[in-house]
Amino acid sequence: MVASAALHARMEKAWGEVSARFSAYELVLPGSPAFVCQAEACQAQCCRAFSVNLGDAEVERLARENGTAPIEFLECEDGKPIALPLAQPYLLARAEGRCKQLGADLLCGAYAGRPNACRLYPYFVIFVDPGTARPVYAELEGMEPSFQAALGSDTVGPYEALLLGHTDCPGFTGPAMSEREWRQLMEETYRLQFGAV
Ligand code: SF4
Repeated sequence: MVASAALHARMEKAWGEVSARFSAYELVLPGSPAFVCQAEACQAQCCRAFSVNLGDAEVERLARENGTAPIEFLECEDGKPIALPLAQPYLLARAEGRCKQLGADLLCGAYAGRPNACRLYPYFVIFVDPGTARPVYAELEGMEPSFQAALGSDTVGPYEALLLGHTDCPGFTGPAMSEREWRQLMEETYRLQFGAV
């Protein structure tokens, strides 16, 4: 097990090298405040500002949890869901500048089946190559060992895995995260972002 202080120092160094590219984000480490949704403070800005993409498995989950057909919650054309040439080809339906699932009470009307992007927000994981001081996007092979190394295992990975938080979100108001809580958040975010449904 690698000592936490050494790990965090490595993460801060890697973040220092790429932070200018991610000006709307900050590094999240153990001790950072936990996220507690403050929808009224921002009028659920995340559900207004972002279009949400979904893949097939997410569409199935939302249909199952909502008990509605995909045409009820996806953007459609000629009565069929629009499918973009992307890994997550579908778009969550919007109306009046916001997600159609957002209720007047600022609560998600599809919470149990909500897409992965909604489960992730306001966090995401990036990987930084310490050799080039640049983020890496497509080299999946090195990500898993690098992720395990970020959790403190003795695994050696080629990258530094960093957990980031979106600074526009006013929800970082909770208690300071313990090491265990941070690891759990890092793991959930990574798994959601890179494969799990
Ligand atoms: S599905 Fe729910 S959490 Fe996701 S954008 Fe719509 S209202 Fe917000």
